[in-house]
Amino acid sequence: MNKTTSKFKSTCSYCGVGCGIEVQKSLKGEIKVTGDENYPVNKGMLCSKGMNLNYVVSDTKDRLLYPQMRWSKNHPLKRVDWDTAFTRATAVFRSIIQKFGPDSVGMYVSGQCLTEEYYIANKLTKGFFGTNNIDTNSRLCMSSAVVGYKKTIGDDAVPICYDDIELADTFFITGANPAWCHPILFRRIEKHKEENPNVKIIVVDPRKTQTCSSADLHLQLKPGTDAQLHFAIGRHLIETGNIAVDFIEKHVSGYEAYKEEVFKHSLSEYAEICGLPEGDIKLAAQWISESKGFLTMWTMGLNQSAKGTDKNLSLLALNLITGQIGKPGAGPFSLTGQPNAMGGREVGGMANLLAAHRDLMNPDHRAEVADFWGVDAISPNPGYTATRMFEALERGDMKAIWIVCTNPMVSLPDSNLVEKALKKARFVIVQDISGRSDTLQFADLVLPAAGWLEKEGTMTNSERRISYLPKVVDAPGEALPDLEIFLRFARKMGYHGFNQKNAEEVFIEYTQMTKGTKIDIDGLDYQTIQKHRSIQWPYLKDKDKGTERLFTDFKFYTEDSKAHLHTSINTNDSDALTSEYPLVLTTGRIRDHWHTMTRTGKVNRLNTHIEKPYLEIHPADADARNISEGDIVQISNGRGNVRVEAQITDKIREGVVFLPMHWGKILEHSYARTNNLTSRILDPISGEPDFKYAAVQVEKYKQE
Ligand code: SF4
Repeated sequence: MNKTTSKFKSTCSYCGVGCGIEVQKSLKGEIKVTGDENYPVNKGMLCSKGMNLNYVVSDTKDRLLYPQMRWSKNHPLKRVDWDTAFTRATAVFRSIIQKFGPDSVGMYVSGQCLTEEYYIANKLTKGFFGTNNIDTNSRLCMSSAVVGYKKTIGDDAVPICYDDIELADTFFITGANPAWCHPILFRRIEKHKEENPNVKIIVVDPRKTQTCSSADLHLQLKPGTDAQLHFAIGRHLIETGNIAVDFIEKHVSGYEAYKEEVFKHSLSEYAEICGLPEGDIKLAAQWISESKGFLTMWTMGLNQSAKGTDKNLSLLALNLITGQIGKPGAGPFSLTGQPNAMGGREVGGMANLLAAHRDLMNPDHRAEVADFWGVDAISPNPGYTATRMFEALERGDMKAIWIVCTNPMVSLPDSNLVEKALKKARFVIVQDISGRSDTLQFADLVLPAAGWLEKEGTMTNSERRISYLPKVVDAPGEALPDLEIFLRFARKMGYHGFNQKNAEEVFIEYTQMTKGTKIDIDGLDYQTIQKHRSIQWPYLKDKDKGTERLFTDFKFYTEDSKAHLHTSINTNDSDALTSEYPLVLTTGRIRDHWHTMTRTGKVNRLNTHIEKPYLEIHPADADARNISEGDIVQISNGRGNVRVEAQITDKIREGVVFLPMHWGKILEHSYARTNNLTSRILDPISGEPDFKYAAVQVEKYKQE
């Protein structure tokens, strides 16, 4: 280290890959960010978002710098000091809870919160407000995977490690575009394939995405038919005798019922349902059967569905019937969207969870948590999940909401309902780093938060790897770490148990709650994490090391220690297509933007990749509507409309259109908020919205 620069190690704050970062800070406070060559996740590589992280820290324009408050709904937001902000927030929450009960308030948090922040927000809400109305935007991306894991292997536990990528020889990438959304993991897959030409990549997606450029087989299925495709492959594996009979007998339950279910359709019927050539399904099954290391990788394309749980269960079945789990290079590998969605799940940051993967519906678990926090009881009433929370606000069942580090006005489905809900709420707190959030306009109280490198704490990536993020620079203006905001609020409410002096004390408190659970990290502290640079849970205290791969003894976390196969219901519960709305709208991310662009939108370099929102439409669908490339088109249904430019491409299936999900503002000629069109249909078990299937019509927009 030279005298003019200090160096720190941290983790990228965008996606769940969790790349290691080296941060150099000059004496003038200038920040330089590079990939950490010794970090096992990325080995020095960074994607375009990671390479531009420094702009987010050093550019404080658009940052929220001080608390702001409006005295009543008709008044503008005015700057106040923190004391005034806390006095108002505590007075309103106390009064609403007293008058309407604890379930009249709630918190909506984010997979970008650090683990310590998530933990304290949960403690505050479930332990002291007395309501389970705390949910997270991770509900929008990973909750179907959580249910799939719990039902199949007994806990929300991703069994693989990233090093399994280089040990696998067949990849089944479904409902994911890692080339754009998890670029560093995809780069590892590409490199592995370059060095090992026998490696096979199967990509399943109604769109021909960038990920397909490396695919040996692209299964361009009809939207919504994923479970049927998984069944078809399962059926063919069974029919051709390519299942792990011995493994199933010893370690899997539910096989007979599964077999009966998948044989309800012939392969040709499945091919017809999925809109795929039968030969392609057979080829995929053949490659899976020949594989020595079979990795299934998926994300929003399966999870964000009215049938997200079924899609997950039927995919996990492919690993189970082939015995491809618990060994090097094999297993189910859910790709996490946000940097700390995993950490949030660990501390119970969802309406149906409690800390250390305890279950809210389990009275013993509730008693354990209440005892640990020194409160009388944890409410047995399930809290509202993300979408339902805003419906409750709109109905008037909830009166106040505290929104932390997320922008529901753009990211939740059915934006018009969200807008009505926020207008109707008696009190809305928005706590964020960015002044670009569209949700701010509805805030009664704005709390400015510290961002990445401005606070310390931990995060967990998609392979259960916990890393420590140090504070490197001061937050601008009067912004405070989210953790400090929660702690100060709780103390002002008069709650006990919130006197922790720093983030590490909160972390240690949480680690003690994990003792004896499947995600045991008892004994871990910041020093130990830093010594190892990162640790994958569970932490083996006596050996001072983490656990890279789970279930190597084939003992699963279920009561009978077996993995459980499940059958699914073959119905489509999404929007019905009609003559009025005959096209399927699917939504997703683009390479260089993140969520609702509150951070990436201000980085010029990231804006140049794709500058404007657009609609992908198949040439036949465009011709039928007299739409030419670049025309402004209106996409509409009964919930709302969107206007963007048309991009005509045969990369998308006929009958399907695609909108990126990032833009929220009214642009020059267009109204680009994609979630004006998406529905509030949820997976009935996971509560995850059906972002990938909305019925719409598209027409050329005629300006008046
Ligand atoms: Fe950051 Fe994800 Fe890119 Fe890695 S892949 S640099 S974690 S955005």
